[in-house]
Amino acid sequence: MRLGLVVDLDKCVGCNACAIACKQWNTSGTSGSLTDYRPYGPDPSGVFFNRIRHYETGTYPENKTVHFPMSCMHCEEAACVTVCPTGASYKREEDGIVLVDPEKCMGCNYCAWACPYGARELDREEGIMKKCTLCVDRIYDENLPKEERKPACVMTCPTTARYFGDFDDPNSEVSLASKKREGQELFPELGYKPVNQYLSPRKKVETKQHETKEPSLVKQVKDWVNQVVEL
Ligand code: SF4
Ligand code: SF4
Ligand code: SF4
Repeated sequence: MRLGLVVDLDKCVGCNACAIACKQWNTSGTSGSLTDYRPYGPDPSGVFFNRIRHYETGTYPENKTVHFPMSCMHCEEAACVTVCPTGASYKREEDGIVLVDPEKCMGCNYCAWACPYGARELDREEGIMKKCTLCVDRIYDENLPKEERKPACVMTCPTTARYFGDFDDPNSEVSLASKKREGQELFPELGYKPVNQYLSPRKKVETKQHETKEPSLVKQVKDWVNQVVEL
């Protein structure tokens, strides 16, 4: 199995619900707590496994805002695992999830420097490295109904921009979404073989403006104001 996520950048509206649901689930789960620093202070920060970046592309009027959620890609050739001196970072054989064993982690930060996706989060209070677990304590929970055995971020996304499943299964949601929209890995040239994929934003569909024969009320008032000002 190769478990991972597909994120549809066309549907993502940058609402951050996935980041908050992730924090909520994991802070009370096996990776918890996810420490906050100065939560009510002037420069709040904290441990988040999923962060949404926002980019502006193109130039006006052809510009577009792209919201880009990023979490661990569960790479097949994970740099974070290679560099870890204590063996705390490991990739599971059975499903490909990359995890950190808190008992072995000494908080040296090597893995964070090695990860090209900025996916590692050092909990400075606990001195332990933490990261996305694909909600490993949720997706196998047989007490949950089958349709809820998905990562918290996927369950909460209001625009259904996130898919979860096994990339080795050609009929899984992630494989089908990736096939249909030509899913892409982030920075494949680096060679770490990220499992997660992104669906590119589609081109804008141009809509024709209706031509108005009569000047609109707004235009009439504007013209009148211009005349008055000139007087
Ligand atoms: S919850 Fe969905 S729409 Fe909101 S930021 Fe996350 S992926 Fe995007
Ligand atoms: S994204 Fe970073 S933390 Fe996740 S498996 Fe790849 S190298 Fe490791
Ligand atoms: S911070 Fe922990 S997981 Fe990361 S390289 Fe050091 S010992 Fe390994």
